[in-house]
This record gives sequence, C-alpha cells and structure tokens, in this order.
Amino acid sequence: MPKIAIIGAGDVGTTIAYTLQISGLATKIVLIDINQKLVQGQVMDMNHGLFFVPPVHLAAGDYSDCSGADVIIITAGARQKTGESRMALVERNATICRSIVDEIRPYNSVAVLLIVTNPVDVMTQVVIKHSGLPRFQVVGSGTVLDSARFRYFISQHCHVDARNVHAYVIGEHGDSEVIFWSQVRIAGTPLKEFFKQSAYACDPIDKESVTEAIKDSAYHIIEAKGATNYGVSLAVRRIVEAIIRDENSVLTVSILLNGEYGLDDICLSVPCIINRKGIKSIVETALEQSEENALKKSAEIIRDTYIKVAR
Ligand code: NAD
Repeated sequence: MPKIAIIGAGDVGTTIAYTLQISGLATKIVLIDINQKLVQGQVMDMNHGLFFVPPVHLAAGDYSDCSGADVIIITAGARQKTGESRMALVERNATICRSIVDEIRPYNSVAVLLIVTNPVDVMTQVVIKHSGLPRFQVVGSGTVLDSARFRYFISQHCHVDARNVHAYVIGEHGDSEVIFWSQVRIAGTPLKEFFKQSAYACDPIDKESVTEAIKDSAYHIIEAKGATNYGVSLAVRRIVEAIIRDENSVLTVSILLNGEYGLDDICLSVPCIINRKGIKSIVETALEQSEENALKKSAEIIRDTYIKVAR
C-alpha cells in the first residue's frame, strides 16, 4: 500500500502529485503546505479527476500524515526568479528544509526522504546532517532531470528513441554540472562509432551547443513561463517508481559521497542504484581526466555554498 507525502504544494509539488496520481504507483498521496487554502484547492481540483485514474486516496494534510509514508518528497521553498541561480536560494531554503525535518521527525524516521528543493545538492546535505538519517535514506533528485535532458537532445539529433540512449549528467544540479560525454552509448555503441555506422548518417553532434542547452534549460524555461515543473515532476515520478517497486535502477541522484570518486563529505549526483531502501549503492564509473577535474570543481562549488549554511 504505497503512501507518498509531498511537502510543498507549489508548481513543483502539485505537478509531482498529479504525475503520481495518474501513474497508479501510490494508493495514498498527501500534500502538505503552509498555505492551507492553496493546498486544499489543489487537492480538490485533482480529486475531481479521480474517476479517470487508478484508485488513489489524495488528501491535503499536516505533518502527522507523514506517518506510514514510504517516501516523503520535499519541494517546499523559494524558487529561482528569471536569471537567478539555484545557489542564490541557499539561505532561505536551508532554514525551510531544517524546519521541515523537525516537523517530520516525530512521525516518521523510516521513509526515504527525496529532496527536490534547490539548490538540491546543498539541501540534500542539510537534510542528512540535520536529520541524522543514514546517507542512503536521503536522496536528492539531483541530475536525473539533467540526464533526461541530455538523452532528449541526443535522441533528437540522432533520431533514436531517448529510451535507447544511455547518457548521464553528474555533479551539481546547476551551473557546474558535468556532461558525461565519454559514457554516451546508443544501443551499446559509443557516439563516435554511431556516427560512422549510422545508415542515415547524421552529422556528428555539436557537443558545445548541447552542453550549453542542457545547462541553460532551466533559465530558458523560467524566462518563458516563470517556473519549471513538468520535466522535474516526471523525473521525480521515475525516482519514486524505482523506490516503490524496489527496482535496483541506475539513476543519477544526489548522494552524500564518502570517498567515492575521490570526494568526501559532499552531496552531488553520480550514477546510483535505487531500490526500496533509497540508495542501494554507488556505481563508480571510469571518468576521463577532464571529467574528473570538472567533477572536482563542481564539488568545490557546492562545498563553497554549503559552508554558508552548515552547522
Ligand atoms: P512555488 O513557489 O510554486 O512553491 C513553493 C511552495 O512551498 C509554496 O506553496 C509555499 O507555500 C511552500 N512552502 C514554503 N515554506 C514552506 C514550509 N516551511 N512548509 C511547507 N510548505 C512551505 O515553487 P516551485 O516552483 O514549486 O519550486 C519549489 C522548489 O523546487 C524550489 O526550490 C525550486 O527551485 C525547486 N525546483 C527543483 C528542481 C529540481 O530539479 N531539483 C526543479 C524545479 C524546481
């Protein structure tokens, strides 16, 4: 009987609730927000569509409703304004995330905590440290969305279903993220080989412009419509699915590293195996020297921001 609690019923939290509502993954979904009127309106709207989806109990609640939840998703907090970086949100959102951990604590210590609030790597570390929970129980949505964007751009360029593209973005979910070009495979074939073999011979991809498009995606979307919500919600739905179904799926979530990739005591995204416990293990993939350097740099940038809010 999977139960999911979502803290924060803004654009992201509500769209996550909606994607979960239509997915059939959960039998209970509870939405919690300091804005009672907003959360009640959102739930009423979604409940009027229950006739069209697999049975699910969807309600507006309070923190006591975190009791019995398998996954608690934190989306509450300030979001980027046009041109603003994710890191600029750090002080406001660290305070909010700590207060949410305190509110959840009396009711649930076994759920997987899935952090979406930005800057997500720093918030994941704030939640791990403040909650005292094991590092594998606290998962940041990290670069799951960025990796999906990477696959989308390659699939569009190569005219191949995105599900047959293996490609990862690692490091910060933000400006210093690392586009892991050396590991891209289409049907097991490295990109360079694919371009040689392809029957319809598409041109080699312009790595620089794809890298820029991935990194600037959120800025473009926020400039156009004020927020990002659909892509991230589908990414979160996918992480929840891997947890609820105990899948052992590989996803690039944000995790507190403890020596892996030569990095210690910092949260960032690398490929991880996800199952019912949250993170089962970290996959240590070979990086090219330039990628290793970029990952280290990304870790330094996250650390510089984390230090501002560390306790
Ligand atoms: P939003 O402003 O629409 O919603 C935020 C909600 O949080 C509001 O409804 C507000 O009332 C609520 N809130 C604030 N403090 C709270 C508290 N203490 N307890 C409960 N609720 C509280 O913002 P949004 O567009 O939904 O974005 C939410 C967060 O998700 C932002 O930090 C944003 O940057 C982040 N985000 C992350 C990703 C990602 O890939 N990780 C993608 C998009 C957005």
